[in-house]
Amino acid sequence: MGTEVVAAVTEVIPAGGSVCHAVLFPFMSKGHTIPMLHLARLLLRRQISLTIFTTPANRPFIAASLPAGAAASIVELPFPHDIPEIPAGVESTDKLPSVDSLFPHFALATERLRPDFESALENLRPWPSFMVSDGFLWWTEDSAEKFGIPRLVFHGMSNHAASVSRAVAGDRLLFGPESDDELIAVTRFPGVRVCKSDFEETARTPDPEGPFYDFVMKAFGAPSRSYGYVMNSFHEFEPVFADHLNALGKQKYYSVGPLCLAEVDDVCNNKKEVVLAAKPKPKPAWIQWLDEKLAEGKSVLYVAFGSQAEISEEQLEEIARGLEDSEVDFLWVIRKGGGGLEERVKGRGMIVGEWVDQKGILGHASVGGFLSHCGWNSVMEGVCAGVPMLAWPMMAEQPLNARMVAEEVKVGIRVEGSGRTGFVRRGALENAVRELMAGEKGKEVRRNAKEYAKKARKAMEEGNGSSWKTLNLLIDELCNKEEDAR
Ligand code: UDP
Repeated sequence: MGTEVVAAVTEVIPAGGSVCHAVLFPFMSKGHTIPMLHLARLLLRRQISLTIFTTPANRPFIAASLPAGAAASIVELPFPHDIPEIPAGVESTDKLPSVDSLFPHFALATERLRPDFESALENLRPWPSFMVSDGFLWWTEDSAEKFGIPRLVFHGMSNHAASVSRAVAGDRLLFGPESDDELIAVTRFPGVRVCKSDFEETARTPDPEGPFYDFVMKAFGAPSRSYGYVMNSFHEFEPVFADHLNALGKQKYYSVGPLCLAEVDDVCNNKKEVVLAAKPKPKPAWIQWLDEKLAEGKSVLYVAFGSQAEISEEQLEEIARGLEDSEVDFLWVIRKGGGGLEERVKGRGMIVGEWVDQKGILGHASVGGFLSHCGWNSVMEGVCAGVPMLAWPMMAEQPLNARMVAEEVKVGIRVEGSGRTGFVRRGALENAVRELMAGEKGKEVRRNAKEYAKKARKAMEEGNGSSWKTLNLLIDELCNKEEDAR
């Protein structure tokens, strides 16, 4: 069957006396897996035992994020190695030679995990009370239904992006005479405006076809039969959109985040000795560099475009020049390129080509701004750290997130010229960086970011936080049912 339990399934008996066991199945990309693993911590803390499904190459990342002694097991499902478009051994989207062209083939191929997934599900004990699986793994809805397991969908999207894209599609707003960059009012949400280029080609073509469209139809085309949606957000951040989704129909949208605030220590609060016994890790070079900047009284701009953005050489050079001209201190985490810049800026900039602890960087006291592609996790992480953003969206729903950041909650400034098909000139970047780090608008968005950081922490606070209560409500609904004892 190809499954392997790598950690003993520990049965955890919650206070109420019943066993609650949940299945988690993250999509194989970092931006989808990381928040689901944060959710895992929150569930473990509430004494729910977990079985997490993944594929062999993704197991180490997942295993490393689980705290020692956690009541969680990982089950591996072999990933097909004979998909014509995907190099053998690639099991996550950040390893694809080109996300832009290969993503749909990769996502569609996940359906081939279904037979192994269902064999493994059938043998799980205790019987799962519920499942949280990624929306990109649309076929898990059928599996959940087959076994009568309530399924929650995790999309990793904001309430804002989910609401606005639904409204835009429902009202067919992208088929009018407007040019790609002309603003269009989203009538259901007063004040919200979008443009055609905020959306994927598929959404604005009258008769779309091709693998990406096939994927969209499978993942989003049919009305959901799932129990509800788990949202990585907090109600206070986007109340209008969260309430809108919840007023739509039978499924509830549970805002239980920001998930990035789930700490490892929280999970093991009854096993403090495990956490304390862990050896402190040496500080990476970039944290030491940030320490030095802090000692010098400098405010650093953190530059990172997520785990999979593809940026042309020409654009990278323009970013490098814009950063150089801005004269700010910066830490740039880059997947490839950036050559020569570090020497040119002599000590003012650091370039890192490795995987970093982004949350740790954003939480460093020297970091005063975040140039971001506006992946939703990055937005939540920036907000939680109270760091204002420079919004430079590139793909997926990032243009909508950038609108949220710059136009709705105003915790950031949009970089002029940025967008799905945009090109940012060095001067535009330089101006935006100067404005964020030292300008009046920068001050305003910094104040807002700090306010939302407080609200985010409050939402996650044990006992009274809105997200804390929402997750408890969800667990009460799903864990305390008679049928659990199957
Ligand atoms: N991330 C990280 N280290 C890296 C690159 C990315 O920790 O070197 C994390 C980042 O903190 C975030 C996730 O990877 O949690 C990326 O998700 P996001 O939604 O921001 O962007 P995506 O990668 O999906 O485009």
